[in-house]
Amino acid sequence: MKARSSMYIGGEWRPAAGTGTIAVVNPATEQVIAEVPAGTAEDIDAAVRAARAAFPGWAATPPAERAARLAALRDVMAARKDETAETVTAELGSPVRLSKAVHASSPVAVAGSYAELAASYAFEERIGNSTVLMEPVGVVGAITPWNYPLHQIVAKVAPALAAGCVIVVKPAEDTPLTAQLFAEAVREAGLPPGVVNVVTGIGTVAGQALAAHEDVDLVSFTGSTAVGRRIGATAGAAVKRVALELGGKSANVILPSADHARAVKAGVANVMTNSGQTCSAWTRMLVHADRYDEAVEAAVAAVAPYRPGDPRDELCRLGPVVNAAQHARVRGYIDKGVAEGARLVAGGAQPPHDTGYFIAPTVFADVTPEMTIAQEEIFGPVLSILRYEDEDDALRIANGTVYGLAGAVWAGEESEAVAFARRMDTGQVDINGGRFNPLAPFGGYKQSGVGRELGRHGLAEYLQTKSLQF
Ligand code: NAP
Ligand code: MG
Repeated sequence: MKARSSMYIGGEWRPAAGTGTIAVVNPATEQVIAEVPAGTAEDIDAAVRAARAAFPGWAATPPAERAARLAALRDVMAARKDETAETVTAELGSPVRLSKAVHASSPVAVAGSYAELAASYAFEERIGNSTVLMEPVGVVGAITPWNYPLHQIVAKVAPALAAGCVIVVKPAEDTPLTAQLFAEAVREAGLPPGVVNVVTGIGTVAGQALAAHEDVDLVSFTGSTAVGRRIGATAGAAVKRVALELGGKSANVILPSADHARAVKAGVANVMTNSGQTCSAWTRMLVHADRYDEAVEAAVAAVAPYRPGDPRDELCRLGPVVNAAQHARVRGYIDKGVAEGARLVAGGAQPPHDTGYFIAPTVFADVTPEMTIAQEEIFGPVLSILRYEDEDDALRIANGTVYGLAGAVWAGEESEAVAFARRMDTGQVDINGGRFNPLAPFGGYKQSGVGRELGRHGLAEYLQTKSLQF
């Protein structure tokens, strides 16, 4: 794998201040495939300075010109889709088909959507005797996870640039090669030096330095609730803006009138995709008592094709999880599910291969709402099927976690599903298998986060208002 031994700061590849490195491991083989520099507070400071210096020029760049640069970035990423897919498969372990269809493609759609929004958004509004100006917040510190490595970066960089902000990205230590590819795309797209900077490093050093940097105006974080809480506290103490996109434990509610075969199959696919490493995954399937056994049987049949294997294989549907720690963590949750009395109907904690961080696709039946596996985010290919007695019971279970990121409802009539969805405490609900919409706001209720990403709501996160009275 191609790796850079430097960081992208101020429009050039600069050597890191320190000598530390991060080993990039292929989770399917456990082999080290590259090394990248482990940035320090000094590198973060250099990147923030470069961003600050670039801010006045970029903020003053007409939106149409910002839109043109975003369109150029979209085109460069589109031209490099294969390289992106190959890199994501190597460092994340996602099946190459998924890498192409989602990891390499969704960022192109998101960058394209912000090219259009930058050109069409009303950055000025008249309210009574006032003109309200929507101005960029300033220097953004973005801290991103490894699960959708390019998407998570672009979902912050594209709206920031559209708004007129400048940005420093600290990507996840597990997926720095995808981030370096992105930095190359930024350069090729002709973005002015300093507008986008990428500093590889570990969270507790580079991430912490970025979140705490006094010249960062907005911290945008995606990752675990534990780290998000600390970042929120740091930002709060400094009175700076913060956006937190955190974990989830979403419910897939199958109402009695639904097409159960379709709903169960889609629910299983949703959880197995990306080895269950999707914050919005519907990891709790809720089925009425009368249809419960039938649904469990259908789920067991539906996981069978997800045989863990070489993610470079075009036919592979389930790769490994990202690293050894996640592997141990997910297996620990499976053990806990068994220990707490859930019924294992597929998979289990025993790894399917000797090498690689593979987990067998796992399904638990007879899961009750208070069990650990029904409450905590597992981030692995593990589905829990819960039983409900009536709609109110289903709602109580669906809303009964600290999270509220996503969910799904299935019913015979769309209106019935919508009525249920209105009562859910969650930021996104797919009705009868509704498709992902890159323009719809994405973000959490409750402890799933603060703020929204994507589309015009995502753009608004990077703007602040100034009112002029006449
Ligand atoms: P994480 O630790 O929250 O990592 C997310 C990002 O924050 C990474 O760039 C990480 O750097 C950085 N970071 C870690 N500690 C930090 C600190 N003290 N200050 C500033 N930045 C810090 O998540 P993870 O360890 O990769 O995964 C653990 C769990 O998080 C998962 O099992 C899952 O439950 C959840 N998660 C959620 C999402 C989501 O999309 N909502 C995505 C990924 C993970 P490093 O890469 O160096 O750790
Ligand atoms: Mg971590």
